[in-house]
Amino acid sequence: VFVAFEGGDGAGKTTQARLAAIWLRDHGYDVVTTHEPGATKTGMRLRALLLDRETTGLSSRAETLLYAADRADHAANVIRPAMARGAIVVTDRYVDSSLAYQGYGRGQSVQEIAELNGWATGGLVPDLTVLLELPPDVALARITGTPDRMEAESADFHERVNAGFRALAQADPDRYLVLDASRPQSELSRAIQDRIRAILPD
Ligand code: C5P
Ligand code: MG
Repeated sequence: VFVAFEGGDGAGKTTQARLAAIWLRDHGYDVVTTHEPGATKTGMRLRALLLDRETTGLSSRAETLLYAADRADHAANVIRPAMARGAIVVTDRYVDSSLAYQGYGRGQSVQEIAELNGWATGGLVPDLTVLLELPPDVALARITGTPDRMEAESADFHERVNAGFRALAQADPDRYLVLDASRPQSELSRAIQDRIRAILPD
């Protein structure tokens, strides 16, 4: 079973992914929690490169390829091995983040990015994708500390990213659980648990 958490910056993906993993472990499941970008050793180097504010002038295509490279390594070295031993994998971001940020956000072809990432991951698609939706102004206000390169993007960019995530969910409603991330944390985790329960092996 493979579950992805998606949404804009500050929507609470990391928190809800962690809570879902705790709940699953409490029920005796073997769970691997992971994230993108940067889940592997090489991925951490790609992440540093991608998010460093000193990285300037990176072309959109190069950025898309670096995210895809990180994801290829993540799928091959973390997600697939975990699934092969029967673990439940919970990831904070996956392919949809590239479709939303590099596609809808940067204005690159969503179709081409989907093909690139299909190749990068060998066609590995989540069984469930939880989309946490929050207006960018609210979400960005939640983020503390120095914004990284991406968080320093314009409000317009983050609006396009959010609209992109929504379009992806609408195009494939069976695979998504879309939640209003401004709801109380406990309500969100309960809704997520209900949905995950439905796809668990007995
Ligand atoms: O989720 P996390 O905060 O670790 O993501 C790091 C940054 O990378 C975020 O600011 C996000 O906007 C950006 N990102 C991106 N394109 C992706 C994945 C993440 O721009 N495909
Ligand atoms: Mg972040």
